[in-house]
Amino acid sequence: MGLEGKTALVTGGSRGIGREIAKALAAQGAMVVVNYNGSKEAAEQTVSEIQSAGGTAMAYGCSVADPDAVEAMMKEIIAKQGRLDILVNNAGITRDNLILKMKEEDFNAVLDTNLKGTFHTCRYAARQMLKQKSGSIINISSISGVMGNAGQTNYAASKAGVIGLTKSLARELASREIRVNAIAPGFIETDMTEKLSESAVEAGKSQIPFGRFGKAEEVAKAVCFLASEDASYITGQVLHVDGGMGM
Ligand code: NAP
Repeated sequence: MGLEGKTALVTGGSRGIGREIAKALAAQGAMVVVNYNGSKEAAEQTVSEIQSAGGTAMAYGCSVADPDAVEAMMKEIIAKQGRLDILVNNAGITRDNLILKMKEEDFNAVLDTNLKGTFHTCRYAARQMLKQKSGSIINISSISGVMGNAGQTNYAASKAGVIGLTKSLARELASREIRVNAIAPGFIETDMTEKLSESAVEAGKSQIPFGRFGKAEEVAKAVCFLASEDASYITGQVLHVDGGMGM
């Protein structure tokens, strides 16, 4: 899976799944840009863990929901590195509520970060990857985007949108062998699932054939595979990393 000489951008790399993805890509030899929004210290911690393990990384703060800030970030990466080989759209938020209580601002915030954020980075990455005639984009969707989930109309819509975006972009970029895939994690142990009530955790586990939540590292391994030449004939796919939940 050697990723030596590759430049990778991981959005939302400060915590949770994104941090493990950044560490795993760096362990394979990639130079990793760790994007974050609010958690500067956590992003610097990710960078320092990568450097302590002998890898190369830098932190870059900007909201993926802000198109101008994303443009500036992409320009800086290309100016410094001269290329972008791997883009992992991992930044994501939840604002859960039943639809009768769902505020429009919560619907919009989730769509703006999870779906439009993915659109913003993909636009600039695609331009660079088309020039290079190579690249791999991995979008982190969710089992909620595949199966739906009560209380998550905004989140599930954003993650289903990410799957549609992934497949359409895979078709647009296929002639240059630029690969675009999605990963649909099930319940993964992070700050995002830490917020769940005990009853929601038990209800979640009862739907998972493995009977347990996944670990961020287990998602990161799937990302490394899709980023690597081992996945050279795979595009437009949604890989479930969910302990069998969505089968
Ligand atoms: P998390 O622990 O809450 O971390 C979210 C990450 O996204 C943080 O690094 C956060 O950065 C970043 N982020 C949020 N808004 C951002 C923005 N506007 N711009 C840039 N970065 C932003 O979540 P997680 O569980 O690791 O989830 C990571 C991804 O996996 C998300 O897309 C999520 O939807 C998806 N997912 C998670 C699960 C799960 O069970 N955990 C299941 C399926 C899918 P800051 O802290 O710097 O703001």
